[in-house]
Amino acid sequence: MSDLFLSPSNPIFTCTASTCTDCPVQDRLQCHFGGRELVRFLLIALPPFILGGIGIARVSAWHLIPWLALILSYFGLVEIRVMCSHCPHYAEPGTSSLKCWANYGSPKLWKYRPGPMSMGERIVFFAGLVLIAGYPLAFFLIDAQWLLLAVFAFTTTGMGMLMATHMCNRCMNFACPLNNVEQSVRDEFFAHNPIVAEAWAKEKRQ
Ligand code: SF4
Ligand code: SF4
Repeated sequence: MSDLFLSPSNPIFTCTASTCTDCPVQDRLQCHFGGRELVRFLLIALPPFILGGIGIARVSAWHLIPWLALILSYFGLVEIRVMCSHCPHYAEPGTSSLKCWANYGSPKLWKYRPGPMSMGERIVFFAGLVLIAGYPLAFFLIDAQWLLLAVFAFTTTGMGMLMATHMCNRCMNFACPLNNVEQSVRDEFFAHNPIVAEAWAKEKRQ
């Protein structure tokens, strides 16, 4: 799977280290991704989407079309612009699409923008998530699909908790509002990634 992902033996583009060996960050932050991380993400994220799709299709399969269009445009374009374009993984040259654990394959249409997200970007980020979760929720409620609603709520909560404990606490995109990497780990990453550190410092100075 090596050509499907960036080489794990080379530091990422923004990093000035010559090797990842002995880097204190590597056990606490996900600088590289592989098939294992991608499969784990899909196992965590897919159940609520499948359940949501079943709930919508039980009313009418035609109603799946706007929801799928929303999902594809959000995770394929909108979220990439407002959130992923701030991620050090996005800065990687020579790739026209993301090769990470989430949003794999989404196109990189914009330039890398290190540093925090703006308030407008945060609003768009959360609004998209609310719309995507709210659409199937409306079908569960209108069609009184209470059991499916309960399982959907359970898997959505589980997805949030598992992502928080297995991904967001190790994600190198500190700009994401859901990122919960410790400050000490961020500081170690900044020490290796001066472009990223400078962008965050500049934002603090303003
Ligand atoms: S910070 Fe740099 S050296 Fe350390 S693990 Fe990440 S890419 Fe490798
Ligand atoms: S923020 Fe997450 S999904 Fe987006 S490019 Fe970075 S690692 Fe990938």
